[in-house]
Amino acid sequence: MSGNSCGSKKSAGLKSEKPEGEEYKMKALMKKEAGRGMDGIVLCDIPKPEPESRELLIKVMAAGICGTDIHIMEDAYPHSVPVVLGHEFTGIVEKMGKDVKGFSIGDQVIVHNIIGCGHCHYCMKGDYVFCSEKQSIGVNLNGGMAEYVTAPYDHAMVVPESMKGKDIPALSEPLACCVRGVLEQTKIGPGDKVLVTGPGVIGLLCAQLAKLCGAYVIVSGTGLDKERLKLAKKQGADQTADQPDTLKEIVASCTEQGVDVVLECSGSAGAMAGALELIRKQGRYTQVGMFGKNISVDMDTICRKEIEFHGTFATAHSTWEKLLKLYQQDNLQLEELVSQRLPLSEWKKGFEMFQKKEGNKIFLIP
Ligand SMILES: [Zn+2]
Ligand SMILES: [Zn+2]
Repeated sequence: MSGNSCGSKKSAGLKSEKPEGEEYKMKALMKKEAGRGMDGIVLCDIPKPEPESRELLIKVMAAGICGTDIHIMEDAYPHSVPVVLGHEFTGIVEKMGKDVKGFSIGDQVIVHNIIGCGHCHYCMKGDYVFCSEKQSIGVNLNGGMAEYVTAPYDHAMVVPESMKGKDIPALSEPLACCVRGVLEQTKIGPGDKVLVTGPGVIGLLCAQLAKLCGAYVIVSGTGLDKERLKLAKKQGADQTADQPDTLKEIVASCTEQGVDVVLECSGSAGAMAGALELIRKQGRYTQVGMFGKNISVDMDTICRKEIEFHGTFATAHSTWEKLLKLYQQDNLQLEELVSQRLPLSEWKKGFEMFQKKEGNKIFLIP
């Protein structure tokens, strides 16, 4: 991959063609142009960012490829251009702005990537995701698919001792989305029968969290998900099904009236319709996966069964506090969810694998 000089939102000195003095250029994966799909994304050389007064400069260890990156590539998710992609990352603090408190050079950090205005109704509750002025790292602000990224220190957290030196905390953002969905938006108690539909990384993480709540967990997928369902079983799921009929039999054999809880992680209309059949009256249903289009929903079933229906979207400040507590307990199985680590220069291969649903989480290593 040849180096390209690219325009960048947060980089200084764009007017001079040649770098002045010793200015360090870093590799960064930028979405440069809308409407061009993968051709609109370029691995560039851009100036290494300088942290502002309340920011950390983070040397990135790994950044995960996520469906949101693909949606940004396809202009199917609101974002700014040009922007460095990557909202799932971990790295080492290399430099700090003068007003940063509570961090040291060399700390390994994770970052709550959504930044709000700080004073509206939602920001006051830590729900930055609903701030009308929110900006997200890797979406509107330069992200972690680069050698360096900057982030406000009040959105960064030091990883627990047991995770230091490992790149696995790059899984924190998707895990936090699951913590939001399973532990904050859904009531799950010991003995509850929980159906998780869609065994992608999000579904597998939701299944692990439901197990931590003491639930009996059934994970369902399609015939293409055999390997993922095997992994679900290995990670503690009680039952798995790769066919709708098998799933019906399992639910009939282990529940009297249907499952207590559904965590729909596939974003597929068929999975949703099937789950609404298998949930018991007055059950709890949380839609974790996004459909990306309008679908038809059997609302009468939701009414007749008095289903407690929840949406969940991204993360809140409280979610990250819970995530850190979970990390301290150290009983999540994260490493086996990472199927590939590719150098940043091979980003295209990673994006294509993601699109073809090959493997699980793919990390890019700058
Ligand atoms: Zn993501
Ligand atoms: Zn706000």
